[in-house]
Amino acid sequence: MSKPKVAFFDFTCCEGCQIELTNFGDTNFLELLNHIDIVEFREAMTETSDHIDIAFIEGSFSREEDRKRLEKIRERAGVVIAYGACAVTGGINALKNDRPDYKQCVYGKDAEMPHLDSQIARPISDAIKVDFEVSGCPMDKYEFLDIVSHLLHGKTPVVPNYPVCVECKRNEQICRFDEGDYCLGMIAKAGCGAKCPADGIPCEACRGFIDSPNEAALKKVLMERGNMSEKWAEKKTKMFTANLRSDAKTLGV
Ligand code: SF4
Ligand code: SF4
Ligand code: SF4
Repeated sequence: MSKPKVAFFDFTCCEGCQIELTNFGDTNFLELLNHIDIVEFREAMTETSDHIDIAFIEGSFSREEDRKRLEKIRERAGVVIAYGACAVTGGINALKNDRPDYKQCVYGKDAEMPHLDSQIARPISDAIKVDFEVSGCPMDKYEFLDIVSHLLHGKTPVVPNYPVCVECKRNEQICRFDEGDYCLGMIAKAGCGAKCPADGIPCEACRGFIDSPNEAALKKVLMERGNMSEKWAEKKTKMFTANLRSDAKTLGV
């Protein structure tokens, strides 16, 4: 049986997830390379292919002109996987969605340069059908391997839908709040092994929120136990999740 053809594409993003991929340096990844044929990957090669079995897409959909390119990828690919927070939710790019003055804030007098022209940052699934998602900023390379491995074996990948706190407790980690810090792990989607609290830093929900998150309770805890002002608690809950919040007004425009 021939190896599945795999391709990688990038849209609005920092390409950090691709770097994470090329940075695997891990025997599991080298083993994976024995089972797939990478036919397109701008970060590492110049070749392209008409047919793709699995297309991995990084970055958010933030320019209408990208819709056609995305549709072409969808036509060529059997399975489309969005990977990284930018592609899955709009990620950190979506912070600009409710700031019409974002270009002036960042670029000052150069804000009108034509190559800065873009619309709101949206998930790839707003433009085309996405079959699977690998969350995180950057995406978790072990979860990536797990999802690809499931697909190669004809199985459906399972992604957790419980909070990071579950993994953190399983690791017997001291809670960041008990160290005088803050954390968003109560409603952040697990699957990363609670790696940030394990490294002594707060979870910022880079994998997005669980289904039906209680944002009001999180804000209350951030204020009461994290000693944050209401404004700061509000900002903290949207760093990676601006498009996921119940008050996100611009999504789907
Ligand atoms: S998810 Fe994070 S690391 Fe990946 S492309 Fe977006 S900003 Fe970069
Ligand atoms: S450190 Fe964060 S993830 Fe861990 S138990 Fe506390 S709130 Fe939950
Ligand atoms: S602990 Fe939170 S911020 Fe850190 S990788 Fe996991 S989901 Fe992302």
